[in-house]
Amino acid sequence: MPNRNEIPALFSGLLPKNNILTSAEMLRPYECDGYTAYKSLPLAVLLPETTQQVIEIVKACQRESLPIVTQGAGTGLSGGAHPISNGILLNLSKFNHILEINSELQYAHVESGVRNLATSEAASEFGLYYAPDPSSQIACTIASNIAENSGGVYCLKYGLTLHNLLEITFVTIDGDLITIGSEC
Ligand SMILES: Cc1cc2nc3c(=O)[nH]c(=O)nc-3n(C[C@H](O)[C@H](O)[C@H](O)COP(=O)(O)OP(=O)(O)OC[C@H]3O[C@@H](n4cnc5c(N)ncnc54)[C@H](O)[C@@H]3O)c2cc1C
Repeated sequence: MPNRNEIPALFSGLLPKNNILTSAEMLRPYECDGYTAYKSLPLAVLLPETTQQVIEIVKACQRESLPIVTQGAGTGLSGGAHPISNGILLNLSKFNHILEINSELQYAHVESGVRNLATSEAASEFGLYYAPDPSSQIACTIASNIAENSGGVYCLKYGLTLHNLLEITFVTIDGDLITIGSEC
């Protein structure tokens, strides 16, 4: 397994230098999620910007037996985005683009790191909003909502994240790109 000093060379062909964080002061903000009782620094934080970069990172980590923890906004309270000290923290906050708001069919097509509230703000011009409303919706991200099946009080009427999800495209731990569900 590579050590901290070997990480930049391992990923430098895959990501721009600024998207590979390894110094202690750069890693410190990522030492825990909203569950702050436990803290640890990962070997590196990687900030991919494209799906192909995610695929290549996952494959490289598998080759090198490097554990990966995925992170959105890090507001989770159950330690799901807590970094592993001998692993990589894969932060997907750069996937923050809203690709489409379809007012007729009432769906939004968004990247994984889009915040709940940003989705509602974009939909508001059509008189729509994204119903699952964890109290952290100002910061929390859609993919993490899916991972946690998040939701707040609106869920009593409109259901949890799983009831508001049509289709998802994701990268498996083997680096395969898979889509499940359907837009309609
Ligand atoms: C003040 C506050 C209020 C909250 N209120 C609520 C509430 O009312 N209801 C509720 O359900 N939760 C609530 N939460 C918990 C939390 O905000 C939600 O679970 C939210 O969905 C987490 O989003 P995040 O982007 O911060 O996720 P993170 O903490 O970054 O990650 C959460 C989990 O998702 C995984 N993950 C993140 N991104 C991806 C990805 N792209 N692909 C695969 N897995 C991924 C992580 O590995 C981790 O396991 C609250 C938290 C806070 C701090």
